[in-house]
Amino acid sequence: MKLNFKCQQCGSCCQGESTISLTSQDVQRIAYFLGLTEKEFLKKYAVIKSGGRIELKTRNGFCIFFDKDTRQCKVHPVKPEKCKEWPFVKAIFEDYDSFKIIKSSCPGLRNVTWEELKQFKNLKKTKNVLR
Ligand code: SF4
Ligand code: SF4
Repeated sequence: MKLNFKCQQCGSCCQGESTISLTSQDVQRIAYFLGLTEKEFLKKYAVIKSGGRIELKTRNGFCIFFDKDTRQCKVHPVKPEKCKEWPFVKAIFEDYDSFKIIKSSCPGLRNVTWEELKQFKNLKKTKNVLR
């Protein structure tokens, strides 16, 4: 089964004054991709928030890795796990209201129905078809 999802590259999930939290694996992977040490990467691209949470820096209201000209992520092949997951986060499968809220913030879900998503979730249980 193929879900009718198509990212519209609207950039809305890369927009805001804060970003998702990075895991230590995200830091390792992105630093390596950029040819930097983890320390260099953190200094150049990350901010440490309260509780030690690591976030990507933002620039002009977008994540520092969002390229406004191409509407693409500059670290796409190694982007943070949370970015890879979006919009198929746990909450979208939980109930119809959450699905509607997430759908309204992601135009890529325009043609995805709740019924399709539920079927997809069942399939996903037996086989990892998302990624
Ligand atoms: S909000 Fe959805 S459609 Fe827009 S860039 Fe993110 S994943 Fe793609
Ligand atoms: S890392 Fe890439 S996908 Fe994630 S918020 Fe930044 S630009 Fe968007």
